Amino acid sequence: MTAERVLVVEAALETCEFIVQRVLLPQGYTPLTAQTGAEAMDLIRRSPPHLILAPAPSPNASGSALADFLRQEDLDIPLILLADKWQPTLMREALRAGAADCLLHPLEAQTLGEAIGCALEQRRLRRWRAHQRAQQTTPQAAKEVRLQEIERLARLGREMTASVDVEHILAAVLELAINLTEAEEGAILLQEGRTQALWTRAVKHYEDALVQICRRSSADPLAMEVFSTGRPARMESVAEPQPVSAHALVNSYLYVPLQSHAHVLGVLQVDNRLPGRPITVDQQRVLQALADFVAPAIENAWLYARTEIERAQFETILKEMVDGVVAVDCDHRLLLMNPPARAALQVKIPDVTGMPLTEIIENAEMRAFLRGESQRGEFKLEDGRVFNAHGTSIANVGRVVVMQDITTLKELDRIKSDFVNSVSHDLRSPLTAILGYVELIARVGPVSDQQAEFIRRIVFSVQSITSLIADLLDLGRIEAGFDTQKELTHLATVIKFAVEDAQAQAEIKRQVLSAQIAPGLPNVLANPSRLRQMLANLIGNAIKYTPAGGVIKVSATADTETIVITIADTGLGIPPTDLPYIFDKFYRASNIRDRHEGTGLGLSIVKSIVENHGGRIWVDSRPEEGTKFTVILPLYREATPDPASKS
Ligand code: ADP
Repeated sequence: MTAERVLVVEAALETCEFIVQRVLLPQGYTPLTAQTGAEAMDLIRRSPPHLILAPAPSPNASGSALADFLRQEDLDIPLILLADKWQPTLMREALRAGAADCLLHPLEAQTLGEAIGCALEQRRLRRWRAHQRAQQTTPQAAKEVRLQEIERLARLGREMTASVDVEHILAAVLELAINLTEAEEGAILLQEGRTQALWTRAVKHYEDALVQICRRSSADPLAMEVFSTGRPARMESVAEPQPVSAHALVNSYLYVPLQSHAHVLGVLQVDNRLPGRPITVDQQRVLQALADFVAPAIENAWLYARTEIERAQFETILKEMVDGVVAVDCDHRLLLMNPPARAALQVKIPDVTGMPLTEIIENAEMRAFLRGESQRGEFKLEDGRVFNAHGTSIANVGRVVVMQDITTLKELDRIKSDFVNSVSHDLRSPLTAILGYVELIARVGPVSDQQAEFIRRIVFSVQSITSLIADLLDLGRIEAGFDTQKELTHLATVIKFAVEDAQAQAEIKRQVLSAQIAPGLPNVLANPSRLRQMLANLIGNAIKYTPAGGVIKVSATADTETIVITIADTGLGIPPTDLPYIFDKFYRASNIRDRHEGTGLGLSIVKSIVENHGGRIWVDSRPEEGTKFTVILPLYREATPDPASKS
């Protein structure tokens, strides 16, 4: 193919030189130059170029005159106008006169090169179509064209079923839409998310600048109208180009809705800028049929693309999370495991999806969380790190466990406990001395009534501090696991004694304290004095936080696996906001803080004792109605003798 000739009409030598050297020659065009409009017209008559670059119209300038000249001579030569500044009215004039494009000074080689390429391609397309039309004059040729259209439609159908790539599908649809309607340019706009905004998702032959402006199609009111009404819009052809948007002047256009399942998802549009290219009712039918045919596929691809984006976002979040996340399906096969979880559990296999839990995760406690045997708790890894795990069952999916590294927190907790323990220990001896000497005061000489009252108060305060210290030391001992000695314990007796011990206290408040122990309650392997301490704390709290005349019930039952002990009262209850913290050390609920004395250590001791016995404790409470603590202890099972060792 011979190089296309581009005529530059430009009086300024520097500009002319720039266009020739930086744009035309590097891109393989043959440059022609003229300094005036008259010179240009003379040159065009002698040997018409393929494209003309000329200054934008201004009074006495040549751009507009050139456009008129081209029209009069009926020459199809694209004209690109070069303007010094943006003058909408002049530009409009020029576009009306048939200019293909308009660029602003200072020119950029790349932009100019692209504009030339685009205008020349459109010219080629027009010529090709004219050639096609000339060939369609016989009935046989027309039949062939129809056949080709059907073939193209069938090809598009095949492409759409084979691909979920939305960009690819849109480009193919638009290509066919432009071919079927023989339009100059076209675009597909789709609804963005759940908003009412339309975005340009595919374009063909539009200028880049226009596409940028019209990315959001609220710039094109016509598209918005077709989108909101679901009705097509067509302008067959007009003598003078009409503005369809603030930025585009066209001679004929057709907008059809892309509708799937009665839902408009976007707009397919084609138009012609040049005169003499009407868009007929037939073309509207063809384009609407195409839109109806492709809309469901576009919707599917669009949904798929959106789902993919959401999936990728979700994956990134999981990857970047500090906490470990592991999910298994209902058959205990791994669904996902994010990098922190892989690192913590030392999983080396790159893709664990679908693999059985038992093959991948060695840590027995983590496996218990994933199987749903434990809901929430801590577990330790071989390297000494401690994790807090929280498992959740998800219906029809399986189970997901989130694990947080709490090694540092545990270490801090240990340091704090060590400190509290040593301070408590060191305080005990001086307090015993104070108590001893205070009690001696009255023996060494007479004391007045007021002095006796002061001594009584000192004794009371020292006893409070001593009991607090005893609690702290107890807690330290239980948490450190020094209470390992357990024996077969008759639980019913322990409960009976604990209730009897508290009767006097309950009577003072005229409360009814009763115990209901299931007959034949099995034994447990336990430290009986700790169990009694646990019950005393829970019953003591029930008495303390239940107003006079209230009812406190203790019950104990057993099933095949566990023993269930409950302590229920009709007292003040615990506000829901305090409930998650009441087992924390020194925590006291907001509704009783100013009304009752206490240290906030009792329930921490209770929880530690229960956990030390392999059990669990939880609380149900309603403010002003009552509170129920439930303790679950595992049943004691005698080891079954090994049948092999009988002989
Ligand atoms: P305290 O020394 O304050 O009783 P505990 O650790 O025994 O400390 O209890 C912690 C908090 O739990 C209490 O301060 C109280 O707010 C709440 N609580 C415990 N038992 C009951 C109960 N039976 N009824 C209402 N509130 C309770």
